[in-house]
Amino acid sequence: MSVPSSAVGTAQIGVTGLAVMGRNLARNFARHGYTVAVHNRTFARTQSLVADHAADGTFVPSESMADFVASLERPRKVVIMVQAGAPTDAVIAELVPLLEPGDIVVDAGNAHFPDTVRREAALREAGLHFVGTGVSGGEEGALNGPSIMPGGTAESYASLGPILEAISAKVDGVPCCTHVGPDGAGHFVKMVHNGIEYADMQLIAEAYDLLRAGLGATAPEIGEVFAAWNTGDLESYLIEVTAEVLSHTDAATGRPFVDVVADAAEQKGTGRWTVQNGLDLGVPITGIAEATFARALSGSAPQRAAARGVLPADTLEWNVPDPGAFIEDVRLALYASKVVAYSQGFDQIAAASAQHGWDIDRGAMARIWRGGCIIRARFLDRITQAYERDAHLPLLLADPYFTAAVANGVAAWRRVVAAAAVHGVPTPAFSSSLAYYDGVRAERLPANLIQAQRDFFGAHTYRRTDRDGTFHTDWSGDRAEQTW
Ligand code: NAP
Repeated sequence: MSVPSSAVGTAQIGVTGLAVMGRNLARNFARHGYTVAVHNRTFARTQSLVADHAADGTFVPSESMADFVASLERPRKVVIMVQAGAPTDAVIAELVPLLEPGDIVVDAGNAHFPDTVRREAALREAGLHFVGTGVSGGEEGALNGPSIMPGGTAESYASLGPILEAISAKVDGVPCCTHVGPDGAGHFVKMVHNGIEYADMQLIAEAYDLLRAGLGATAPEIGEVFAAWNTGDLESYLIEVTAEVLSHTDAATGRPFVDVVADAAEQKGTGRWTVQNGLDLGVPITGIAEATFARALSGSAPQRAAARGVLPADTLEWNVPDPGAFIEDVRLALYASKVVAYSQGFDQIAAASAQHGWDIDRGAMARIWRGGCIIRARFLDRITQAYERDAHLPLLLADPYFTAAVANGVAAWRRVVAAAAVHGVPTPAFSSSLAYYDGVRAERLPANLIQAQRDFFGAHTYRRTDRDGTFHTDWSGDRAEQTW
């Protein structure tokens, strides 16, 4: 089938890759009045989209990539929504020879940002704009309004941006989409978004575990606590989801649903990339890293089997005298730990932005995460306001609002982490967040000793607190200090 001549050059945007995400994005474009060219490697998917969803608007289906490209108005805007990695490269290779300078290729899949940097450079050589775009919110978001994080040139955003903003989620009338920065910036920010999502979920899981262990509360009882928390500072999609999941009953057994779900989670893709990148940049994203490792531990079946019932706990029975006060302590500890996780994630964005020259506006990132995506939360308004007060804020925790908000819960945070340790409940994200808080606020860290040790065994030199310069002590000789 070739595209009818009446349809040549009529579509304002095209989507290739019509599995669940591409299909829903195409429908979202159509519902917003755009004429949408649609294409998929396996034509049956294209046909079923058009057959099932004609009511959404105007689709121009094509079986071949050449017809698909021909159906687009110039400059062409093509959204690729296929599996990340080699499939994306295969689609780009097929598409590029059919395009002309000035056309815009949008990769809306979950690409790793170095791939986006590479592809952008290659397509720029051909005179094409390549826009690596983070899309968050899963299939529901793709259909009804995702959070969209496009990279690429400002020039490409000028024509593409209004279309993406139209289909994005809106909060208080403001689109959850903005130009993030050049080449890989969009996919980078999406990666960190997912890393923060890992941390947020782990913190919530630890809060649940503490309430279970400390109070002996049932899943539905804990669900009620989360539902109440969702009316305050912690209000967010993830807290809301948690309340719903905890109150759900398994139809097969009549037991609380979470009690029949296996306790082994996976870590792959964006969580792992975020941690690897944190190490590359030297940014301590301990909340995200602990969350990723906690998933890895949960899936370490042989190690857990070897340890379960064997390693002594040496814990005391946990009798919480005032359940209401304990619940409030856990809430405050959760909030403070969450602020740390976000503070670290925004540090990572700042460091990468500086390294790549992306000039990312962190306040704008918090703003476009307020709707459509998994970490959507009212709390993000506070982050936007913090970066509006100071665009170069070196530490989100040090913004006056967040300093005061965390100060309010520091004593509770310490009680919770201490109780978890005494009673043998693993809280890697709560504990590491508190350790980060104490580390970053410390007058003096024990890195002085690390430096002295390194100089002793490797002549790595050290700096002094009392004068400038680089020094080495002759440890194996007369221990005289030399200036290097
Ligand atoms: P997917 O399962 O990741 O990919 C399936 C699609 O890729 C199909 O259209 C398939 O075509 C196409 N494809 C695979 N290999 C191909 C190749 N070599 N050449 C051409 N097409 C190829 O689909 P998805 O779940 O809709 O996700 C699409 C993208 O969005 C992915 O990058 C994913 O990571 C990202 N994403 C997904 C979600 C989500 O919640 N699912 C959320 C955000 C982002 P055929 O029909 O011919 O097999």
